[in-house]
Amino acid sequence: MMAMADGLERLRFDNRFLAELPGDPDTGSRRREVRGALWSRVAPTPVAAPRTLAVSREMAETLGLDEAATASAAFAGIFGGNALLPGMDPFASNYGGHQFGHWAGQLGDGRAITLGETVGAGGERWELQLKGAGPTPYSRTADGRAVLRSSIREFLCSEAMHHLGVPTTRALSLVATGEDVVRDMFYDGRPKAEPGAVVCRVAPSFLRFGHFELPASRGEHDLLRQLVEFTIRRDFPHLQGSGEALHADWFHEVCTRTARLMAEWMRVGFVHGVMNTDNLSILGLTIDYGPYGWIDAYDPDWTPNTTDAGGRRYRFGWQPAIARWNLMRLAQALAPLFGDAEPLQSGIDAFGTAYTAAERENTARKLGLAECRDDDVALIRDLHALMQAAEIDMTLWFRGLLDLSILDPGIDAPSPPEDAFYDPGLRATHAEAIAAWLRRYADRLRDDPLTAPARRERMRLANPRFVPRNYLAQQVIDRAEAGDPSGIAELLEVLRRPYDDQPGREAFAARRPDWARNRPGCSMLSCSS
Ligand code: AMP
Ligand code: MG
Repeated sequence: MMAMADGLERLRFDNRFLAELPGDPDTGSRRREVRGALWSRVAPTPVAAPRTLAVSREMAETLGLDEAATASAAFAGIFGGNALLPGMDPFASNYGGHQFGHWAGQLGDGRAITLGETVGAGGERWELQLKGAGPTPYSRTADGRAVLRSSIREFLCSEAMHHLGVPTTRALSLVATGEDVVRDMFYDGRPKAEPGAVVCRVAPSFLRFGHFELPASRGEHDLLRQLVEFTIRRDFPHLQGSGEALHADWFHEVCTRTARLMAEWMRVGFVHGVMNTDNLSILGLTIDYGPYGWIDAYDPDWTPNTTDAGGRRYRFGWQPAIARWNLMRLAQALAPLFGDAEPLQSGIDAFGTAYTAAERENTARKLGLAECRDDDVALIRDLHALMQAAEIDMTLWFRGLLDLSILDPGIDAPSPPEDAFYDPGLRATHAEAIAAWLRRYADRLRDDPLTAPARRERMRLANPRFVPRNYLAQQVIDRAEAGDPSGIAELLEVLRRPYDDQPGREAFAARRPDWARNRPGCSMLSCSS
């Protein structure tokens, strides 16, 4: 109990979602259809031997937890699902969703259990949610658990995204359960026992588009209205007014936040992998890290998700269009609250406008231009085509552009970043086109008002040196599965400062090695996690 005095007990919970919205009268994890309610009380299922493998110190600090608290046995117990703090009131929430383009009905938190909503000293709200904490009414035929490999991926990528400045849910902790979980990773009839884990993820809210779609699909319009009004009150308190005008302002903001998120994913080379409407956050956060991946060689057609290999609906280059499609499903769900469709249509239009503006801003930042002119849109589009054709590493190329002495007198044909090429043959084939693009870029820079140091700094902050490349995460996973979890903290340490050069850590910035090209976990991931 001494450990509890180290700060854990200072967490305060107000659990507004439970207090203000209708819940399921039934409790426990018996699988069921839940109508007329947005949540069901259910406790985490205790695990054999909870052991904390990793903690995000920034997230812990934000919650007021010091190192003594996060190192305690009490912490592992609580965030492994074996104990509750006073004020916690665990529940699973009820939502539906469109999966791969089709309405899937009730889904809900099948393996996520919210422990409670905390309120920080500054009034900021954080919902603490365990992923992999055991069955809930929404687990359908599955076990409510998560394997270590996918939990490491969620833990690392949530925090990496935060440090990259991309809106995201956060991760506080990664706790090994000491129990095995059986998974058929590629759905090929070869199930295997794997170590289990629980991530505590943290966000102001885990509400998804699908939370609004489910009551709408059932004609539960009062419930829908209550949820919308609650969301605005709790999560969008800056929006004022009432009735339809307020709802319209809110939808407009959901659309513009989603647009900015998509532009951020495209800036850093993140592919979500499963952009079903149940995996889109109403706050415009990256949510549900599953079979996601990072772009190595630039390829707008790439998806890491083998479950989506057929249509590649969730390929890198389609993400903005898919987000818009998802917003249209949300608009459809919200339609009963509106007299006519005009405000919803104008929200969808605002998505397009906001996306274009954010994309142009990112173009200017990535190329080190004071502003993005119309010609620059073509400049970057042509670069993207070239990067795809010549298999150029996205992160290394853009970061490499910082170091080209492109404006040095006498250099009218700068050479490209050396380490960004995967295939010498393709490089040779496209050498002339690459040189031509660089000359065009150099010309453009000569016509830009930024000083060289200002340009470099602008580019540095838009083009990360370090991203959690798929193979890096997989190496950490291999080590952890073999009993050495220290790679998690090592990689996280590098990812804390993604825009700094970090001499001595060049290995973490290296392009994908050949062995990782077609290896499961590196280029191929499935929803089995
Ligand atoms: P996802 O594709 O991971 O976003 O999950 C889609 C739905 O399946 C959600 O309702 C999840 O809660 C549920 N789900 C995924 N994995 C499991 C699991 N191991 N146990 C129970 N439910 C799960
Ligand atoms: Mg999900």
